[in-house]
Amino acid sequence: MKYLTAMYISLSESLGIYTPDQLHELLSNKQHSMPISRHRAAIMQSRIFFFCAVFAVLVPTWSLIDLLFLPGSIWLELLLIRLLSAAAFALLAWQARKEPDLKRARFMLAGMLSVTPLFYLVSDHWLQAYELTATEQVIAELYALLPFVMIAGLTLFPLTLKELLAYATPMLAVVVLSSIPEAKSDISEAVSTIWLFSLILGVAMFASLNQLRYMLSQVNRASYDVLTGLLTRRAGIEMLDLQFRLATISENHLSILYLDLDHFKTVNDVYGHDAGDVVLKYAAQQLSATVRKGDSVIRWGGEEFIIILPTATPDEANDVIARLMKAGLGLRPDGTPVTASIGVAEVQTDTVKDWKALIELADHRMYTAKTSGRARSIGINETQLLWSESCAPCIARNTADAPEPFSGSQPEPLAN
Ligand code: GH3
Ligand code: MG
Ligand code: MG
Repeated sequence: MKYLTAMYISLSESLGIYTPDQLHELLSNKQHSMPISRHRAAIMQSRIFFFCAVFAVLVPTWSLIDLLFLPGSIWLELLLIRLLSAAAFALLAWQARKEPDLKRARFMLAGMLSVTPLFYLVSDHWLQAYELTATEQVIAELYALLPFVMIAGLTLFPLTLKELLAYATPMLAVVVLSSIPEAKSDISEAVSTIWLFSLILGVAMFASLNQLRYMLSQVNRASYDVLTGLLTRRAGIEMLDLQFRLATISENHLSILYLDLDHFKTVNDVYGHDAGDVVLKYAAQQLSATVRKGDSVIRWGGEEFIIILPTATPDEANDVIARLMKAGLGLRPDGTPVTASIGVAEVQTDTVKDWKALIELADHRMYTAKTSGRARSIGINETQLLWSESCAPCIARNTADAPEPFSGSQPEPLAN
């Protein structure tokens, strides 16, 4: 038991599992965020492309070896199977160049992994029908190594345990089926083949999970801002690019909000950087809490944020702003409400050519909101929403027996 516990601890440490969330991340992709799934799909597709392109060339080239060592009649039959496999690999390589998409990547990996065992099964069937000489037998036995090559190939992909089991089980079945001994004397050979295959499979699964863990920590570090937990500018740009293309292809609406906190520098100047950090963190929390699940909040820089609202019309974007103003962005250390100047832009109404132009437009409108007196939003056709008209903390401050506007992590107003 002690030994088992030590094994478990060492396995968890080597796979970087310290919390239940970290375990779930390795088991399935249910908890993977959008940047993680996208990054994983991109890695998988680029490796599938490389592998399939190489195999599309190597598989038919190997025919030269067959020609030298195998009887002419088998060679021709094998050449046909080789050409079919090469065509399948070429097709997969071509598909792998498309936009990264996790479903597509998984499907293509399944395709890539099944071409070789199928090739092995068919060629094994042909080869068994012939009486081969000793040299020919050596070449024929190389074919039996193909499933091993493929399972080792799994180490190149950052996969979850669920995916690994889905890919490995059919491969194991192929090896078991093709190893079923015909005579009692062949049993030991079959057992050793299956045992070797299972060992390589175990190592491949471990390597693949390790890759996934490494990728998760790298992507999380690059995608989420340490102070606020929001998307970083880098991850935000990827998201903007993707959402812009999706909206343009489907001719759907896509609104963005560009927010800049008002007079934030004075919080730092008067109360210090730490107090500024507390205000910033709470404002970010409020932004995340107000938007829907499919929306994205990005810390664009310092005290500037971008909110992406897929499918939202300009009116729906204004509804989100009204909700934000009502919920508020917290209080400054002196007890006054934190406000922001907001610029709105929308893909269909503003007819911009790319996401950069969309941001520029929203930034420009945010600047207009600043120069028009701050604490407001400027949308399409100069539509304005004023913070003072719906802001809960503002109303609370003007009402004698108003309830506490916030609880929990909201910072207590500091004394001047
Ligand atoms: P305006 O209403 O015109 O936007 O005024 P402002 O004071 O908000 O504008 P300005 O751009 O001059 O100030 C932004 C400040 O945000 C300056 C910078 O010190 C502060 N800031 C940026 N990042 C952080 C951070 O991570 N923590 C803290 N505490 N302050 C930050
Ligand atoms: Mg600013
Ligand atoms: Mg500011």
